[in-house]
Amino acid sequence: NPRILMIGAGGVATVAAYKIVQNLDVFGEFMIASRRKAKCDELVNAIHAKGYKADIKTAQVDADDVEQLKALFSEFKPDLVINLALPYQDLTIMDACLACGCNYLDTANYEPKDEAHFEYSWQWAYKEKFEQAGLTAILGCGFDPGVSQAFTAYAAKHYFDEIHYLDIVDCNAGNHHKAFATNFNPEINIREITQKGLYYENGEWVETEPLAVHQDITYPNIGPRDSYLMHHEELESLVKNFPTIKRARFWMTFGQQYLTYLDVIQNLGMSRIDEIEYEAPLADGSGKTEKVKIVPLQFLKAVLPNPQDLGENYDGETSIGCRIRGIKDGKETTYYVYNNCKHQDAYNETGMQGVSYTTGVPAMIGAMMFVKGLWRKPGVWNLEDFDPDPFMEQLNKQGLPWHEEFDKDIEL
Ligand code: NDP
Repeated sequence: NPRILMIGAGGVATVAAYKIVQNLDVFGEFMIASRRKAKCDELVNAIHAKGYKADIKTAQVDADDVEQLKALFSEFKPDLVINLALPYQDLTIMDACLACGCNYLDTANYEPKDEAHFEYSWQWAYKEKFEQAGLTAILGCGFDPGVSQAFTAYAAKHYFDEIHYLDIVDCNAGNHHKAFATNFNPEINIREITQKGLYYENGEWVETEPLAVHQDITYPNIGPRDSYLMHHEELESLVKNFPTIKRARFWMTFGQQYLTYLDVIQNLGMSRIDEIEYEAPLADGSGKTEKVKIVPLQFLKAVLPNPQDLGENYDGETSIGCRIRGIKDGKETTYYVYNNCKHQDAYNETGMQGVSYTTGVPAMIGAMMFVKGLWRKPGVWNLEDFDPDPFMEQLNKQGLPWHEEFDKDIEL
């Protein structure tokens, strides 16, 4: 029986845990480890309270510390480690996997803490090491990155001889009824959104000012929504793996209120990721203070709503898909493949909102592909490197059904 170790017990991990438990015929021993063991135990209790009778082990681990990871891996001996902690921990977990002979899967590319920089180079540099160790590493197996690449690979396999234009369109038309909140880890989310935009055209990367390029895009069952061009990591691997692509872009919707708050946060300096000195009261209650170093964005995270608590009052739905134009049998053709996910459906099943759901479900399916031996090859891979068909089949079965439109006017 395959032994699965999941690291992290946040929003995405919660969904993945439910999904693993729903598929215990495929998965064997299951352990959840995170920075705080109590969080893992809470999650297991919630799963049991929903009536699932799974035997799930829990453990404490600081995933920034390779030695702690190695000790845990040597003891539990996982076949696959699912990294659903934060992007900062990708490399330490990959190092520990190499040291202990474990395979690896994550949902976001590595980011250094002191530099919001999104690219695969750090993780691709592990390719040879994973090859030599005979181990598989699956990178970016959430929705986007993740399903967006499986969608593109599926289109390339079945409907196109050459893909020329690719637009990944990501809409969250939900409402959590909070003045301001992020849908996944606030620190990671705000770092991502305040970055410069980037897209690929005619062999070159074109940079734009943050959120400077935007237009209305019409989403199925939702309607038109203002959508902003952003840099997104999967574009880097997609244009490499599909060299016929002439232009690749990523769009995400933001409401006006969200953007106003974001602007204020930035202008106040609260999105800074460098350390500042802060005069904090001593814990002894003496009224005296001491100088401590804090990162403003981490402080902001502590006062913002926890994305895991948004689900209950979240209505509306997400819609994420790929709009593709290219050539099949000498003829120009267009293809749009997408999934819509209702926040309340996600909440009823897992207690989490749709953004955690659309990430956690593909993470489980990727793990399932590995465990079934369908996606298993030594090296470090992005999703489009694997056969999309069995993954696409599971999306339909595991709560993220997708839909196709052919030869429609999808031009952006
Ligand atoms: P959360 O902040 O909710 O969860 C992160 C979890 O990791 C928490 O349980 C946290 O512990 C734990 N953790 C953090 N640091 C460490 C550490 N050093 N050692 C051990 N555990 C640690 O984040 P999300 O669930 O929202 O996101 C998880 C991942 O999914 C992120 O990498 C995010 O970028 C990615 N993501 C990917 C998407 C995609 O479509 N591909 C979309 C959305 C997210 P604690 O509970 O104690 O804080």
